[in-house]
This record gives sequence, C-alpha cells and structure tokens, in this order.
Amino acid sequence: MDIHENILTAIGHTPLVKLNKLVGPNDATVLVKCEFMNPGASIKDRMALYIIEKAEREGKLKPGGTIVENTSGNTGMGVALAAAVKGYKCIFTMPDKMSLEKINRLKALGAQVVVTPTNVPAEDPRSYYETAKRLFRETPGAFMLNQYHNPDNIEAHYKITGPEIYEQTEGKFDYFVTGLGTGGTMSGAGKFLKEKIPGLKTVGVDPVGSVYEGYFKTGKLTTPHVYKVEGIGEDMLCGAMDFKVVDDIRQVDDRQSFVAARRLAREEGIFAGGSSGAAVHVAVQLAKEIGKGKTIVTVLTDSGMVYISKFHSDEWMRDNGFLEEKGGTVRELLGD
Ligand code: PMP
Repeated sequence: MDIHENILTAIGHTPLVKLNKLVGPNDATVLVKCEFMNPGASIKDRMALYIIEKAEREGKLKPGGTIVENTSGNTGMGVALAAAVKGYKCIFTMPDKMSLEKINRLKALGAQVVVTPTNVPAEDPRSYYETAKRLFRETPGAFMLNQYHNPDNIEAHYKITGPEIYEQTEGKFDYFVTGLGTGGTMSGAGKFLKEKIPGLKTVGVDPVGSVYEGYFKTGKLTTPHVYKVEGIGEDMLCGAMDFKVVDDIRQVDDRQSFVAARRLAREEGIFAGGSSGAAVHVAVQLAKEIGKGKTIVTVLTDSGMVYISKFHSDEWMRDNGFLEEKGGTVRELLGD
C-alpha cells in the first residue's frame, strides 16, 4: 500500500519535466521543476514545514501556538497546511496587490489574513513587514517564520530542494535558473548544487522594478518601482539572499513573464504562475545562447490557478496592455 499519514508527507518529490515546444532544435535542453504540484501548490510548502518542525524541536513553537508571517500567499499556504494538520492558529499579512484567490485560499484553510497597502516603503508601520512584526509582538505564544531573514529558509532548500534536483538529474546539468524573492531557493538549492556539480552556473531571475539586479551588478540600491508579477523581486535586501551563490542576475519585465507563463500553459500544458513565466523566459533565452548539448534546470515556483483572473485571462492581458492585436489576431512574442 502507498498511503501518506497526512498531507505533509506528500510535500516534495515533484516532477522534473522537459520543455518541447518553447525551445528550438538547436537550443539547450530546458528542464522545469514542477513545484506547483506540491499540496499547497508551491515550493513554499517545503520551507514552511521545515521551519515549523525545526521551531517545534527547538521549543520556539508550542502546541496551540499562533504562527504569524508576512507572505505573498504561497508561504502562507504552506504554513496553513501544516498548521491545519498540527493544530496551530495562523495570522498572515499580505500586500493588497495580491490576487483575491490567494487571500481567500488562506482564509479557506482557517487562517486570519490582514491586507496591507502595497505602495508604502518596507519601514512604514502600515507595510506588510511592519504589520506582521507588530502582530507577532502583540500575540501571546506567537512564532514568526521571518522567511525574508531566516537562515532556515536557505537551509530548507539546501537540505531538501537542492538534493532532490541533484538526484533527479544525477547532477548532469549546466545552469540553474530560479526567481529571486526572499532568495531562499537560489541561496539554498543553488549553494547545494554548486557544491556538488563542478562548473555549474546559477542565474537569478529578477523583475524590472526590483533592487536585486542593480545591487548585484553595481553594489548600489536602485529606487524600486511597482511591477505586477508576484513573488519575485524585492524593494530591500533580504537576509535569505546570498549573492555569493549567484553567477548572474537577469531582469524580466511583466509582459515577458506573463507571455512565457501563457505559452507554457498552451504549448506545453504546464499551468504555472508569473514568476515561473519569468524563469522560463530567462531559461529559454539562455538555451538559445548556450545551444544544444547543454542542460538548464529551472523552477516553476507556483501554480497558474491563482492567476486565472489575472494574466491567464485574455481580458486582463488586454486591459493591461500586454497583448498586441494585429489584423484580428492576438500576438504574443517570447524573447523580444
Ligand atoms: N515565485 C513565487 C510565486 C513566490 O511566491 C516566491 C517566494 N516569494 C518566489 C518565486 C521566490 O522564491 P524565494 O523566496 O525562495 O526566492
């Protein structure tokens, strides 16, 4: 019999799938790690469970306690799953640019969600960071994951995500491409894979408007601006972002991210989110540059399901100026 004791042991062991249509015959092979197939529909299930179980072992999270976190939704989902199984309460703060599906999804798992304004600096008391910190201070028996600055976020991906990719590929690939949000996936999985695979190069994917790429290339913080793709990019530097692990960072704009995610759905049958689109955009670009014979692994962090009323809808794409209509046909181009 093949039975899981509860949903938490079903986290991980996601498939690694080859792209067939988005890459040409002379391009490198692109393999996508389907993290949207986790029970909470994102890679964050792994990190949330890892940090919660470590906090339990260290006595930082006690039975019946409350988990507080600022989350763009996916970490919240991972935490909410674990909290439901293990009997904790959850309070999440989320910026108001996040999709209603993401907010309601957390409420469906019994969490309390506090929505905060997107367009305020991180240090503003109304920001989702500061609101979470205040709720943590005010709630007795609270534990905060602090995913942005917690080294255990990196450790989770170093111990779990990295080794899993290594086993699936037997270490036979040349580039690891992943989006940079907290930086945990890159800093943890990227570090493990670089230690194991001589010559492996890592490429971080950053949205236009985020500070990471500018900081990486010039050592200076640029002025961030708002963008639509969710889950990647930051307006500050995070403790979970280890630039030493990164060989290059490429920036991708909203249109490129969404168009790639839509093509991934229609041409490959893989229904993923906008940050996955951004990562695929870079992987496909790189596959052309490095050519046949090389292999790129990239991460599809979350599912398209929570973006159905956003970029997976033609209407939304048209309203936001991301579709070009010429002679009655809708044009979406990858790579321009
Ligand atoms: N994509 C999405 C949709 C996310 O929610 C996140 C996490 N913020 C990322 C990518 C980036 O992952 P990480 O935080 O590990 O850098």
